[in-house]
Amino acid sequence: MQIAKNLAVQIHYTLKNDAGEVLDSSEGSDPLSYLQGHGNLIPGLEKALEGKRAGEALNVSIPPEEAYGVRDDSLIQDVPRSAFQGIADIQAGMQFQADSNHGPRTVTVTKVSADVVTVDGNHPLADQTLHFAVKIVDVRAASKEELSHGHVHGPGGHHH
Ligand code: ZN
Repeated sequence: MQIAKNLAVQIHYTLKNDAGEVLDSSEGSDPLSYLQGHGNLIPGLEKALEGKRAGEALNVSIPPEEAYGVRDDSLIQDVPRSAFQGIADIQAGMQFQADSNHGPRTVTVTKVSADVVTVDGNHPLADQTLHFAVKIVDVRAASKEELSHGHVHGPGGHHH
């Protein structure tokens, strides 16, 4: 069965940056399960996997435009310290969920001063070309429930 929209796919993968450092890998754990064509993976990786079969392996480099985006300086904002009431000790590197025009977004604190906290809404992997080594483990039809949820259930997927 070839990977196509609405199929449930299991992959093992290793993700490296331009410097060859491993950023993420499924080695030593369950393969990643995802639903093709539902935005579970970055667009460039879904595109590279389309049409592949279980047992195939591929290496693919994905530019930022098809991965986590190009850095957008307008996503860096100064927020009054008072917006963080109840959080005693704000430090650079902390992450928060914030509402944005594009839905919930993870922001990272980059600077803290007496009155102002600077947060950056760019994805930590923005601006990076990502290098994936992928092995396709399994391709199967998705259940009705998986299709209606937009993700895969069971090992390596979502649990309810
Ligand atoms: Zn579900």
